[in-house]
This record gives sequence, C-alpha cells and structure tokens, in this order.
Amino acid sequence: MAMDDMTGNKPAPPAIELARDAVFLDFDGCLVEIAPRPDAVVIPPDLPAMLTTLAEALDGALAVVSGRSLRDLEHFLSGYAGPMVGSHGAEARGMDPPLAESPAELTALQAELARFAQTQGLLYEEKSHGGALHFRADPTRQQEVEEFTAALADRFPAFAIQPAKMAVELRPEGYSKDGALALLSELPDFSGRRPVYAGDDRTDEPALAWAEANEGYGIKIGEGESAARFHLPEPEDLRAWLAAAVRG
Ligand SMILES: [Mg+2]
Repeated sequence: MAMDDMTGNKPAPPAIELARDAVFLDFDGCLVEIAPRPDAVVIPPDLPAMLTTLAEALDGALAVVSGRSLRDLEHFLSGYAGPMVGSHGAEARGMDPPLAESPAELTALQAELARFAQTQGLLYEEKSHGGALHFRADPTRQQEVEEFTAALADRFPAFAIQPAKMAVELRPEGYSKDGALALLSELPDFSGRRPVYAGDDRTDEPALAWAEANEGYGIKIGEGESAARFHLPEPEDLRAWLAAAVRG
C-alpha cells in the first residue's frame, strides 16, 4: 500500500465546534510552511489576528504547541497573546509556574552542539532548553548527525533525542507535546472540552494519538502515516479551516 493510501485518502476534519472544542496547533509545517532555514519562515500577515479572533471565539481554548523556543514563537506570532508551549513542552507562556527550569548542563550541551555544527558545516539552531542540528541543506549528513547527538545524549542524561524533519534536536528529558496537552487540558479554559490537535511531524504523533484517545481527534498536515483520523494537505488548508470557524 502506498503512503498516499494511508493519509491522502483520510477525510478533511469537520468544522470546529466553538462551544465544544479545545484547539491545539503545531507551528512549523502546520500553521506555516516549512522554510529552508528555521529563521526564514514566512508568517501570513493576518495569522496572529486570526488566531486571536479564533481564541476569543473558543473562550480561550486555543494554544500553539511547538518544538520551537518560546521566544521564537513570540517573535513570529507577535500580536497573538494566547497560550503557547515551546521546546516540546519544556516551557510555556500563559501558564504559571513555567513547566520546566533549564537543566544545569544546558550551556555545556549547547556549546558542544555549536562547536560540532561549526566544524562540520552544519546549521545549528539554539533553543532556550536545548538545541538542534539541521541537515536539510545536505540530507546525506543525517547519519553523522544522529551518531553525534546519540553520543551527546549519553553524556548529558538530562536531555533526550528528539528526531524532527531534517534535523535532530536535544531537548530536556521528560517533556513532550502530549504531556503538554495533558497539562493544558487541566486548565480552566481547556478542561471539559474535546481536544483537537493539528501537526505535521514525527514529534506530533504522540499528541495526535493523545487527542484521538481523549475523545477528540487529530489532523495530520501533509503526507505520512499518522495516528490522526483526519488529514489536510498543506498549512494553507489548515489556516483556511481555522478561518472558516470565525468567518461571520
Ligand atoms: Mg511541525
């Protein structure tokens, strides 16, 4: 069976039910198109305002849940003031106290990642709770990056490997997007609502499965096998689906 048969034939999601749903949205490859470099994503000018309008219509039950640093999310989605979870659940805005403190070895780990990237000609993305090595520019470097990051995770047990699209990341051990969903769902704005999660990546699968297992549903953006029942081909399709919920 071809991959298309696993995903392309899945239906588009039903319309958002504003009084019933809690909406959780991944960022890269989901709300916005993947860019050649992480700092080169293009944000549609009306996206922050649309998220704000939708969050109000959901009585606050909307959150962005990303592997990005919170500071990146706040930069890219400037104008949107709702809850955001960064670094795969290790940091959050709009939640008190924050989900995690930086592990003590963070600075040493980031120095090792930066040095390896510099000497090996790879792209290093520093994150507030870890870092990522990107090999999108040369996919033949994947094995080298995987071996280096695996050895690093052995030496820094407070960190775990997080494979991503054309990148390997080290993030604090014990945090995940599905864990973040479970925590968010306890908050007053989210509790009692049906979890709806949209994401595009391997890092989203536990969260998509969590939504499916908790009386909600997942939406897989793009191709690939997924625990999600529903599918949309591109980020622009997701944005149109979100906008349709608040179009008066
Ligand atoms: Mg993504």
